[in-house]
Parts: sequence; structure tokens; C-alpha cells
Amino acid sequence: MNDRARHEALDAADPLASLRDRFRLREGRIYLDGNSLGAPPESALRALATAAEDEWGGELVGAWNSADWIGLPERLGDRIGALIGAAPGQVVAADATSVNLHKLLVTALGLRPGRRTIVSTSDNFPTDLYMAEGLVDLLGADRCRLRTIAPDALDELDAVVDDDVAVVMLTHVDFRSGRRLDLQDLTRRVQARGALVLWDLAHSAGAMPLDLDAAGADLAVGCGYKYLNGGPGAPAFLYVAARHQAAARQPLTGWMGHARPFAFESAYAPGEGIRRFLCGTPAVLSMRALEGALDVFDDVDLGALRAKSEALGDAFIDAVEGSRVADAFVLASPRAAADRGSQVSLRHADAHALVRALIEADVVGDFRAPDLLRFGFAPLYTRFVDVHEAVQRLETIVVEGRHLEPRLRERARVT
Ligand SMILES: *Cc1c(COP(=O)(O)O)cnc(C)c1O
Repeated sequence: MNDRARHEALDAADPLASLRDRFRLREGRIYLDGNSLGAPPESALRALATAAEDEWGGELVGAWNSADWIGLPERLGDRIGALIGAAPGQVVAADATSVNLHKLLVTALGLRPGRRTIVSTSDNFPTDLYMAEGLVDLLGADRCRLRTIAPDALDELDAVVDDDVAVVMLTHVDFRSGRRLDLQDLTRRVQARGALVLWDLAHSAGAMPLDLDAAGADLAVGCGYKYLNGGPGAPAFLYVAARHQAAARQPLTGWMGHARPFAFESAYAPGEGIRRFLCGTPAVLSMRALEGALDVFDDVDLGALRAKSEALGDAFIDAVEGSRVADAFVLASPRAAADRGSQVSLRHADAHALVRALIEADVVGDFRAPDLLRFGFAPLYTRFVDVHEAVQRLETIVVEGRHLEPRLRERARVT
């Protein structure tokens, strides 16, 4: 069997193969950037149109009640919760991931009075570190400090988490390498030292099963526009374990998190449960798109989703290693599927131009400075033949030196 036939056979045996029809994808384009912006589910586009035309256009302000716009943050939160192993009432959809990080870092400091240090890894996603830095500036070093550790130091976490550490902020799947951390084990080790863990699930939610409740997780945030396919700028989400909610205080005390927003009282009183983590008016159109997008997950077995994701990554690495250009690249992701999220990164000195040349060849991945080509394998809609074809086109580009054309050196604002 030749390579293409082998990949076709894998697609034929894929129990999730039919889900691809539920997405709007142009034939011919190979989209390997669902880890940055998920492809649009038809159900998301329909929900967005209904929300705009019928609800906003037809019912105007009445839709807050008739279409239950006001319930969207919690309604979506519970549906996302089902994908990340959180029982109802612990997740809300709201704001951007960055904003939710601010809320939950302050919450964590409040839940661990007398401790002031935030620990994170130096390779964490920049916004996570930036938000912690901003908090240090805001509160002052007497009340908040940031300590970044090398990623390898996670092995000696027990020594790192001393009596001053309130919270350890970790990203479950690294955005550069795709390395996946052991959520349950790290949670347990941090908690054994008396601190909390704040997990960033931006590259995890919707790509693999997660079990926050079973892991005894404290706090988490994540992204709506990556593997959840909620559309550009989709609302993010946050998780606060039920056991922490009554004592939890977040700093963005807007009216939507008030116990009685429509009583218009002049003093703030936090709402019950997870609602107190809301701030302002929900971005209704974006939330309705995300709501439609989540329909795709309704009957998906997340174990099968993860198995496919691992197999796609392995198929990609095997194809690169078996190609004529194998020696041109260094694998920047873990070789073992169990240690990866749903992406594979390759290192090459000319990564940016290669990604541009690939996009011209209708293979959409992305570039991460300084030298990474990053490929996401969203298991809901990526086929094994896509992986095969992407590597074929990459091989052609490198062999022909197409990426060396000077016009491919220009960088766009978004890479
Ligand atoms: C994508 C991503 C974010 C995005 O943050 P926004 O504020 O929603 O733009 C945050 N953290 C990580 C780890 C990410 O990968």
C-alpha cells in the first residue's frame, strides 16, 4: 500500500470522520491552524445568524429574556464544563483569557492570605506572564511577587513551592512545543505544599478529555476560539472549584457579577456561586456563535477524539521523518504522543518563509518566533490524508527552495 492509500485507509476507519462535514472548509485547503483559530462549524454560523437576525433584529431588548441571553455565560459554562470534567455551576464563559487570568490570580491570592508569590514557568504563554507582572505592579511587591522557573524545574516543584507561594500558574499544553503536563500529578504536588494551581487550558479544551473535578483542580481558564471553534475573539471561560466559591473574591466587581444586578443597589454584593466571576454585559453575538459551535461536541466521545489527535500527530511526524527533507527539520515537540497536545512543531532557521510558502500552497499552519513551524491537528475535522498531503507540499517547497523567494520574507502583523 502506498503512503496515500495508507492514510486514506486511516480516514476510512476513523469513527469521527463524518464530523468534518459539519464544518465550513474549502476543498483543497489544508487547515492546520485550528489551535490558533478553530474552523467554523456550520452550527456556529447558523446560531450567529439567528442571534443577529431573529433575536437582535426581531426581538430587540426582549431577547435578554425570550432568548435567555442573560443566561448565556452559565449555560455555555456548563457545556464547556462537560468537556473539561467540571460538574455544573463551576464554569462561566466570559471576557478574554487574559482578563480571566487577572480575576483568578487575585482570587487565588485572596484564598491564601499571608502568601504573596505567583509561580509560573518562563516558557508560559506571554499573556499569562504579562498579566501576573501587571498584578505585581498594581499590588506592589509587599502583596504580590512573580517567580518564574525553568520548565525543567517542574520536576522539583516540591522544593519551589514554599510557604510564600499562593498559586502556581501553569499552561497544560505549551503553545510552542505542544508539550503536555500531567495535570493531576502537578495539582496534587502543589496542593500538598499548601498552594493553589491555576491551569490555563487554552490548547487543551476541546482537543482532549480533561477531568478537573477528579484531579481536585482549584482554578482554570481557557480559550473559546481555538479547539472550541467559537470564532475570532470568542469569549473565554473560567473554572472555580465549587469548594472555593463562597470564599472567593475577584477584583472586577461589575454589575453582572452582583447578587442582584437589576436591583441597581449602590453597593456591590457578590453573586451566588460562579456568577460572581462575571463582570460586564456578555458579548451576546460571540456567545451565541460559541453556543452553536459547541453543538458539534454533543455526541463526540472525547476518548476517541484524543486517540485520533495522537494518531494525527504521529502520522505527521512519521511522514516528515520518512520524507526527503527529514534532515532539514528538528522536531520541537515530544516524540511520544502521550506527552503532546494536539500540535506538532518543527524547528527550522527559515521557519517564517517556509510557513508563508506553505500558505501559498494552501497548507495553513503558523509561525512562532524565532524558528518554529507550528501545525495543529484539530481532530474534529482534520483527516489523515490532509497530514499526508501537507507533508508532501512541505517536501516540494524545501526541495525546490521555494521559500527562498525574497517576497516571502515580509512579516504580517499577525503570524
Ligand atoms: C491563546 C492563549 C491565550 C489567549 O488569551 P486571550 O486573552 O483570550 O487572547 C491565553 N493563554 C494561552 C496559553 C493561550 O494559548
